[in-house]
Amino acid sequence: MLFTTNWISTIFRNYSGVAEDTIQINEVVTDSRTRSSKSLFIPIVGENFDGHDFIKQAFDNGAVATIWNKNKELPSFLPTEFPVFFVDDTLRALQGLAAAYRKEIDPVVIGITGSNGKTTTKDLIASVMKSSYKTHATNGNFNNEIGLPLTVLAMDRKTEVLVLEMGMSNFGEIERLSKIALPDYAVITNIGESHIEYLGSREGIAKAKSEIVTGMTGNGYLLIDGDEPLLSAFHSKDRVIRCGFNTGNTVEINQVKISQDHTGFVLADGASYSVPLLGSHHALNATFAITLAKLMSIDSGVIQQALSSLQLTSMRFEMVSGRNDVSIINDAYNASPTSMKAAIDVVKQMSGFSTKILVLGDILELGEHAQSFHESIADVIDDSVSVLFTLGDQAKSINKKVTAMENGVVCKHFSTKEELAHGLEFYLNKDTLVLFKASRGMQFEKIIDKIK
Ligand code: ATP
Ligand code: MG
Repeated sequence: MLFTTNWISTIFRNYSGVAEDTIQINEVVTDSRTRSSKSLFIPIVGENFDGHDFIKQAFDNGAVATIWNKNKELPSFLPTEFPVFFVDDTLRALQGLAAAYRKEIDPVVIGITGSNGKTTTKDLIASVMKSSYKTHATNGNFNNEIGLPLTVLAMDRKTEVLVLEMGMSNFGEIERLSKIALPDYAVITNIGESHIEYLGSREGIAKAKSEIVTGMTGNGYLLIDGDEPLLSAFHSKDRVIRCGFNTGNTVEINQVKISQDHTGFVLADGASYSVPLLGSHHALNATFAITLAKLMSIDSGVIQQALSSLQLTSMRFEMVSGRNDVSIINDAYNASPTSMKAAIDVVKQMSGFSTKILVLGDILELGEHAQSFHESIADVIDDSVSVLFTLGDQAKSINKKVTAMENGVVCKHFSTKEELAHGLEFYLNKDTLVLFKASRGMQFEKIIDKIK
């Protein structure tokens, strides 16, 4: 059982319907298309749709109660005994319910924000926590002002650890999420450039991510990327753990080794770990998970076992095999300048391939800084890479810059996915490694499908 209409009416007193019955609510839905068993429907007003218009569909799909904007007319088909909770703002109501439920269940809450690596770090943390505690975590990328409250409301009453990804595109959003979640532990994975068009600068991004401390309970710790100068304001604060590669961090990461299917590293206490992910940035992400696990009294051996059996959210640096056994790295889920450079670094460090090909596309949402950010990608491309293929107006800047560097990399820009896939044909063999990296909107998975 999740909760009852009585529970909701203690939070929202403005209630219509016959109050004598206690109705059990099993889940909360905002999407009227979701087939549910005894759900509370919360209609959200979006840019294109107003959820209130879909109450009939929600009702037909199993809703047994609804929250309702008090200024909207209630349709007449609803039975009189159907509980309706009137509110000023349904989104705030969803968030208010989540905040109340979090306090009632009171698990250990871990909140994760950062420009890159949130979902990966969330998956790593959830994986280690699951080894020893009843854990509920964000599903996929449900990290925004709707997804986070829905995640909270979907937790089982017996949950001991709640792991929440917190995303944002503007100031104030992480603060709101943090005040709902009240994290005991929080992680800021890194500061990159995503959403710089709204936040002005990397300093602005650091400030927005730092809002995660506003809801913290004070019982736990804040874990940060200790190598990031923009987070140095936290260094002198109590209950802050700095994880990173530089000496002097609270938790130092050493001896990073990237092989074909995992990244190994050693922490300052001498224990070695490995994760089935490629790249030194994943050693950092895993270190956050290991440090939290130790704070939660999980044994090193159990932690390593959990990291090895990590369940990945797909399209994040996946290694797949293509035609003629060519090795493909599918990292086409999203991109920022930081993560694109990190991905290229991983390709450069990987051994066992005679030809390494980068297939790069546009990084979207960079605003006025777009061109210089794309050009900066060229700085990490050298002749350990054999071929650079680009697609997209912005990615063209990377191509031009690398071509001008005359470093022996074969560079070609394409105007369609078909031509690019055709250009790759020649290279498809077992000695070739191809990295695909672009923003989600570029749909690079369609090129991958053509060479699979
Ligand atoms: P989103 O904003 O889409 O939710 P996210 O923060 O959840 O993104 P992930 O999906 O985990 O991030 O990873 C996105 C990309 O960032 C991947 O391509 C990954 O290789 C790269 N990445 C992961 N961790 C780091 C890190 N610590 N530093 C830099 N890049 C990273
Ligand atoms: Mg994510």
